[in-house]
Amino acid sequence: MRYARPLTVLLLALAGLGRGAATVSAAPTLKGRAVWASPREAGTTEASVVAYVDQLAKAHVNTLIMELKTSAGLFWPSERFAPAVVAEYRDFDLPAILIRECHKRRIAFHVWFFDFAEGANSHVAQQHPEWLALSPDGKPTSTEILRGQPYRMAWMCPARRPGYTDQWLIPLIKEFAERYDVDAVHHDYVRYPGDLAPDTYCFCDYCLEAIPKYASYYSTTHPDDPLLGPWDRPHLEAHWERSPKVLPPTWKDYSREMKSRLLLEGSFFPGGNRDLDYFFYEYRAHQVAEFTRQVFEEVRKVKPKMEFSAAVFKNPVQSGRFIGQDWRRFSPWVQYLMPMDYRSHFGGDFETHLDLLAESIQQQKVWARDFPHLWPGVAAYQLYEEEREPLTRLRRLFRDGGKDVAGMQAAFDAVAGRLRTCAPELHDALAAYLKEPKDPEGVAQKLDAFFANVPEGYYPPERLTKTLERVRAQEVEGVVIFSSGGITSAKLWKAVEEFFDR
Ligand SMILES: [Zn+2]
Repeated sequence: MRYARPLTVLLLALAGLGRGAATVSAAPTLKGRAVWASPREAGTTEASVVAYVDQLAKAHVNTLIMELKTSAGLFWPSERFAPAVVAEYRDFDLPAILIRECHKRRIAFHVWFFDFAEGANSHVAQQHPEWLALSPDGKPTSTEILRGQPYRMAWMCPARRPGYTDQWLIPLIKEFAERYDVDAVHHDYVRYPGDLAPDTYCFCDYCLEAIPKYASYYSTTHPDDPLLGPWDRPHLEAHWERSPKVLPPTWKDYSREMKSRLLLEGSFFPGGNRDLDYFFYEYRAHQVAEFTRQVFEEVRKVKPKMEFSAAVFKNPVQSGRFIGQDWRRFSPWVQYLMPMDYRSHFGGDFETHLDLLAESIQQQKVWARDFPHLWPGVAAYQLYEEEREPLTRLRRLFRDGGKDVAGMQAAFDAVAGRLRTCAPELHDALAAYLKEPKDPEGVAQKLDAFFANVPEGYYPPERLTKTLERVRAQEVEGVVIFSSGGITSAKLWKAVEEFFDR
């Protein structure tokens, strides 16, 4: 990693003087300048892909991370996994063109996989229901309700062998690595579904057997032996080291719900601390890390120099407990660590978030000590909550008939100043409606048009620049911006170009 030495800082500052005070920066230029992207941003013609990559090059982006396996399916014309390929990509070889164009411009290409998250109706979830992660009542995530809506993802069990991990996901990644000249494989959703239910998965048949074995809750050679020693110490838990049998004698007769409850709420010693959850979380963190090892070894058999990157949550101590993602264990199977330090992952207003971001990156530098590359990620579009949320609220109130004038007035007041400058026509239409409510449909259409093509400057580019500056000030090697589509819709390419040029 690069660090600013006093002389470098001085030279950079002197070099900056000639270009005007605004460009003076004490921090070194970032080596990693990456964006996360989705396939629709590159379009489905050769010309659209070329134009897209041109835009990246113009903005000095040098690493593209493109999602090509999502909950919707695969975005390359896979032969072995043909039924999972998204329709428009059966005859259009997006990665072939994209990688060729990226390499022409010296942009590295990381192929981004949704690892354990599948679509509820995806081919593999339909064909192999036995590979789904299950809750204590034996149901997959796709039967859950989240914020009043059906949860559309089907999480697959990371642990089961043979199962999704070794029969589907790893072969898929291997196929891609063999077929394309890709620089790195990018892991995402490399975890359990914590956004939904941190403690509910996985209690599939395989895991109900595997957790007690993993944690040595009985001896496989002496399964009925209690394995107890003398009770010669005052503290109950002090007698743990002989690995006494933890499972009750009637374990085999327990229902799934009863087994799950014991594994999550039970005690290592009868009457002792309720501590079995520790082993449950440990098992999950192990399974996720074990996948990163296994895929690394499998892919390296066919591509000995392949590298891996991963989008991870900001704090591995916490994500280890809540989603089985203690990413410290991914080393040495992942080389590029990309924590998602998004604004939505911090509390407080924009300025508070900048402080928390810096604090978080400093912690990450310690946790990520064993990784060759640490590139924190920021979400560009999310920085504009204050500008976007009132207009989203207004749009919803118009859709509801436009009768809540007081509510609309409050939303309008929050953004009126910005609108007057950047979108005077919309400003006047909203102001007129609030004075005399008529034609809500017409005003709603104006709002839709605004969102389809947000005027330049409505989302202040300084806010993105400030965020990126704060990341760079932590002396990290690179940064990843989520996403190229967000940069486009918020009209931030110029800000990105100027920042990366320094
Ligand atoms: Zn399982």
